[in-house]
Amino acid sequence: MIKDLFLNFSLFIFFLFGFHRLQNILRQKLPNKFQIVVGMIHGIFGIILILFGIHVFEINILDFRQLAIISAAYFGGFRAAIITGMIIVAFRLSYFGINEGSIFAFITISINVIVSGFISKLVKNYWFKWIYMILCVMILSSSFFFYQHIKYSHQLFPIMPICESFILMGGLFIAVFISFLNRNEEIKLALKESEERYRSLIETSPDGIFVHKNGIIMLANEKAGTLLGTEKSKDLIGLNIFHLLDPNLKSKSFDSFEIFSHFRDTIVQKDNNYTRLDGKAVDLSFSESNIIYETKEATMVVFRDISEQKNTERKLQQANKLLHQLSISDGLTGIPNRRYFEEMYKLKWEEAQASQKPLSLIIFDIDFFKKFNDSYGHLEGDKCLKIVANTVSKTLDITSDFCARFGGEEFIGICDTDEKGACIIAEKIRKSVLDLKLPNMNSGVNQFVTISIGVMSLVPNLSIKMEDAVDYADKALYTAKLNGRNQVHFYHIDNEIFI
Ligand code: GH3
Ligand code: MG
Ligand code: MG
Repeated sequence: MIKDLFLNFSLFIFFLFGFHRLQNILRQKLPNKFQIVVGMIHGIFGIILILFGIHVFEINILDFRQLAIISAAYFGGFRAAIITGMIIVAFRLSYFGINEGSIFAFITISINVIVSGFISKLVKNYWFKWIYMILCVMILSSSFFFYQHIKYSHQLFPIMPICESFILMGGLFIAVFISFLNRNEEIKLALKESEERYRSLIETSPDGIFVHKNGIIMLANEKAGTLLGTEKSKDLIGLNIFHLLDPNLKSKSFDSFEIFSHFRDTIVQKDNNYTRLDGKAVDLSFSESNIIYETKEATMVVFRDISEQKNTERKLQQANKLLHQLSISDGLTGIPNRRYFEEMYKLKWEEAQASQKPLSLIIFDIDFFKKFNDSYGHLEGDKCLKIVANTVSKTLDITSDFCARFGGEEFIGICDTDEKGACIIAEKIRKSVLDLKLPNMNSGVNQFVTISIGVMSLVPNLSIKMEDAVDYADKALYTAKLNGRNQVHFYHIDNEIFI
C-alpha cells in the first residue's frame, strides 16, 4: 500500500513541477480565465490521481485528490477549488456509480473546497495557508476512517496512521516544494529584471560600452559603434578587440590586457590615442572592469571620446611652452634671461656640489657702453647688445655651458670647468667680441667695442653660498674695469690673480 501511496504522491509532485511552469504562461496568455483553467487542470489531474488510487475498503479509494483541491485553491483561489471539486465529484459519481462511498466523497470534497477556498482567500501568510489547508484535509480523511470504524468495524490501525502521515508529510513537502519553485522563479525574475535594467542603462549611456570575453566582443551599445567607427553597434559583435586597435599600439595594449586579466578585480583606466576602423585618429579614455555576463566572467569596457579635450590640452601645452620660453628668455637679445640663469645656476650648483666638480662663473660687461649709445644712438646700442649676446653664446659649448643677460649691458655665463678652463673661455669671449670690430670711437679703451670680464671658479661646498660666488665674480669684473677694461680678471677667494 505504501508503494501505491508513493506512486500517487510522485505523480502529484511531477504534476506540480509542470504546472508551476505552466501557470506563468497561463497568467500571461489567459489572465481572465486563469482561475477556471487552473481549476480544470487540477480537476483532470484529480481524476488521474483517483485512477491511480488505492482501494482501502470495498467501495472506498484512497488518493491525494484532496491535495489537488488545496493546490487548486492555492494557485487559483475559490473559483479554481470549486471547479476542481466539481470535476472530481462528477468523475467519482460516474465512474463508481452512486453509492455510499461516492456520497461520502462528495461531502468531504465539498467541505474541502469551501474551507480551502476560504483559507486561500483569507490567510495571507504562505505557511499558515498551507498548514490550515493540510489540517483540513487531515480532519476530513480522519472522519472517513472513524466512519468506517464505527459503521463497518474496520480497523483504524495501521491504515489510518499511515494515511494521515502521508497527507501531513506529503502536504508539507508540497508546500516546501512550491515555495522552493516560487523562490526560484523570483530569483529568475529578479535576474531578468536586473539584466534588462543594465541593458537599458548600457543602451542609453552617453559613453561607448562593450562587453568582451577573452577579447571577443559580446555586447556593444550604439555609442560604441559610433565611437569606434562602425555604422551599427552589431558590427562590433564577434570582433576581437585587438582588431580595433592601431597596429602600432597592439603589443602595448596586449601587455596591458594580460596584466589586467591577471588582476581580475581591478578597474583599469587609461587614455589612448587610437586609430578607428575607418582610419580616423581619436583620443579615447577607457576604463575596464570585470563583470559577470551571461553567467561567465567578462570585461566591460566603458570609453568616451576625449579628442576635443586632448586637443585643448595640446594647445594649452604649446601655449604654456611658449609662455615658459618667453618667461625665461630675454626680449631683446633672445638669449636666456636672469630668471632662467637663477634656475640653471641652482641646478648646476647642486650638481657640482653632489659630484664635487668645479663650477665657474663668467661675468662680463661692455666697456663704456653709455658712450656707445651717446655716439650711435639707443637703437644701434640695442643692435650691438644683440650681436654681442649671440656671439658669446656661440663661443660657449652649448652642451655644458650657458650664458644669460644679467641686466643692461652685463652678461653672465656658467661653465662646468675649473679656474684654468674658465680663464681660457673668458679670454676667448673677450677676443670674440673685440674681433667683431664694432666701432666705439669714444670708448677711450679701443676704437672697437670691448668687454671686461670677471671670473670665479670653485667646487661648491657648504661654506660658500651661491650668491657669494656671483659677488666674487662681480668683484673680479670691477677689478678688470679698474685695471683698464678690455681684460679678464680672475677672483681668488684668498689671493687675487691677474692674467
Ligand atoms: P663701464 O665701462 O663702466 O661699464 O661704462 P658703461 O658706460 O658701460 O656703464 P654705465 O653703467 O655707466 O652705463 C651703462 C649703459 O648701458 C647705460 C644704458 O643706457 C646702457 N644700456 C643698458 N641697457 C641697455 C639696453 O637695453 N639698450 C641700450 N641701447 N642701452 C642700454
Ligand atoms: Mg658697461
Ligand atoms: Mg654695466
